[in-house]
Amino acid sequence: MDFLRPTTWEEALAAKADQPEAVPIQGGTDVMVEINFDLRRPPALLDLGGVAELREWSMTGGHCRLGAGVPYAAVIDELGGPLPGLAQASRTVGSPQIRNRGTVGGNLGAASPAGDSHPPLLAARAVVEVESAARGVRMIPAAEFYLGVKRSALEPDELIRAVHVPPATGPQYFSKVGTRNAMVIAVCSFAIALHPRERRVGTGIGSAAPTPRRALEAEELLAAELDWDAPLDPALLRRFGELSARAAAPIDDVRGTAAYRVHAIGVMARRTLTWAWNDHLEKRAA
Ligand SMILES: Cc1cc2nc3c(=O)[nH]c(=O)nc-3n(C[C@H](O)[C@H](O)[C@H](O)COP(=O)(O)OP(=O)(O)OC[C@H]3O[C@@H](n4cnc5c(N)ncnc54)[C@H](O)[C@@H]3O)c2cc1C
Repeated sequence: MDFLRPTTWEEALAAKADQPEAVPIQGGTDVMVEINFDLRRPPALLDLGGVAELREWSMTGGHCRLGAGVPYAAVIDELGGPLPGLAQASRTVGSPQIRNRGTVGGNLGAASPAGDSHPPLLAARAVVEVESAARGVRMIPAAEFYLGVKRSALEPDELIRAVHVPPATGPQYFSKVGTRNAMVIAVCSFAIALHPRERRVGTGIGSAAPTPRRALEAEELLAAELDWDAPLDPALLRRFGELSARAAAPIDDVRGTAAYRVHAIGVMARRTLTWAWNDHLEKRAA
């Protein structure tokens, strides 16, 4: 197996163009598991650990540009203010060791429906920056990035360079059901982001469909009927839960049944909206 070790982004893109079958490795918390268990034997690994810029984040043009190699630990320590939903989801990932190595870029690269970063990225309307040597940069909205189970819009010669996440303008929450409190892949998960200025609520569903997805009808319901100056109407909250559950299309598997997941998505949708709404009203009253 070849081991390619670029030290600049341009070298990384050239290596991927040269050998599209080379598997990128960032934190290695997915890739190394697959190699150790002999689930994957790629002809080459493209180690992105030497490309320093991937580990950086910046606030530019009104959004946070998070390099593909920024580990969860940095999201938690440094970005809890502007990206509370993503930071909350990051806190639930694996263990401290996994959060030190694992990255949002790697979560996107793996494109598992159970990846914890996806629901908050969807709720915040994040955009994935990908690039190839041949065609340059493509900006792919998160909602268009996930194409199937562990399948994304990334072409074989492309690499993920960053993800652009608008900083929160309102409360954000992430909720995850697992069979225990730590080191657990989500049975299912739900993220919410309130955008009070636009009078819009974003959602993200995890581990309850072939891909992470938004609960579109539930979002539309709130856009049409939510009174941003009043307490949450219980009937509207119930309907939001129902429409969120209806957006799920889960399967039965070792982690949970489809019926349980649909039920849990409805519960988490109601819960996260309630938490976020309480924060919203508190902030208005202050
Ligand atoms: C013990 C354990 C617990 C875990 N718990 C969780 C959990 O709770 N929640 C969760 O979501 N995940 C969990 N994971 C999975 C994993 O940690 C995450 O998916 C993590 O985000 C992967 O990041 P990484 O940098 O380690 O990716 P890597 O393993 O380096 O790569 C993952 C995938 O992305 C591709 N890739 C990486 N970087 C790029 C790039 N720049 N461009 C294109 N493709 C790229 C790789 O080729 C590979 O296909 C766990 C894993 C382990 C081993």
